[in-house]
Amino acid sequence: MSFEYIQELPSPKEIQNEIPMSAALRELKAARDKAITAVLTGKGSRFLLIIGPCSADNEDAVCEYVSRLAKVNENVKDKLILIPRVYTNKPRTTGEGYKGIASQPDPEGKPDMMAGLVAMRKMHIHAIEVSGLTAADEMLYPDNWGYVEDILSYVAIGARSVEDQQHRLTVSGFDVASGMKNPTSGDLSVMLNSVYAAQHSHYFTHRGWAVKTSGNPLAHTVLRGSVNAYGRSFPNYHYEDLMHLYELYQERDLVNPACIIDTNHNNSGKQFRQQVRIAKEILRSRQQSPEIHDLVKGLMIESYLVEGCQKIGEGTHVYGKSITDACLGWDDTERLIYDIAESC
Ligand code: PEP
Ligand code: MN
Repeated sequence: MSFEYIQELPSPKEIQNEIPMSAALRELKAARDKAITAVLTGKGSRFLLIIGPCSADNEDAVCEYVSRLAKVNENVKDKLILIPRVYTNKPRTTGEGYKGIASQPDPEGKPDMMAGLVAMRKMHIHAIEVSGLTAADEMLYPDNWGYVEDILSYVAIGARSVEDQQHRLTVSGFDVASGMKNPTSGDLSVMLNSVYAAQHSHYFTHRGWAVKTSGNPLAHTVLRGSVNAYGRSFPNYHYEDLMHLYELYQERDLVNPACIIDTNHNNSGKQFRQQVRIAKEILRSRQQSPEIHDLVKGLMIESYLVEGCQKIGEGTHVYGKSITDACLGWDDTERLIYDIAESC
């Protein structure tokens, strides 16, 4: 019962210098961040689509996926801002299983944190180079922020982390769009309190430093459905749920009211194909209510090259198929993106 200190890891600055973002990519990210900020602050009218696999487990498959997204982007960019999900750290319900490329660069191999940091940064940068699209990731470990702070255009705080003080305070120092999910219990006040905390300035300790943050006005809500004491899923994307969230925002002192809706997880009850129907219902609700139209700024969709999911370590591996949550396949994804662009 103790820690074994395996290896001292490089600092964020060391890793950033070793695997740098080029000046051209930094410029691209600044322009994308500006466009996303405009949407979240009500100045831009495009719709955000955070889309990609549950976990970015393989650089080749992820780069192929984002290259396909980039082609679609050419046809929808007037209506949508496509933000690939390049999720490198995975929260696990019991702590067991694949924890993401940042912990395990080879999903079937041993954990290797040093190789994981390098693999995470290289994959993120390569994905931007091939697609021109800067990505979203989950900030599962707040200490890791410095390793990707110059790369990401969107950060999510997951359902299992959103009530945690260190996560909330760390987000208050991020300078990009940050989505705080509702917890697995579905308690919306936890999510809204988290947005409040993230929108304000704090003093705390971060990576061995005393720090002060500015507060993040781009912190917003993400609805992902909930699960009850008996393991049953309850969605929170219906018209009434969205009106309720609108009212809760009115009662609180929060800037930039905004919500992204995750169409998978407990909103689909993990019936991943339902994401198509769910996305369309949300778009209809937006058309029916000006309040919902203004509040719901985008969707989060789980999608990969091949539909469904597979277990790891069983001898067969299908390239581009999720090894965590089941995802939509490419053809359904492409059709859905065009349908969403048409109804926005
Ligand atoms: C995810 O986005 O893959 C995820 C794990 O989400 P949540 O935190 O909502 O369960
Ligand atoms: Mn998932």
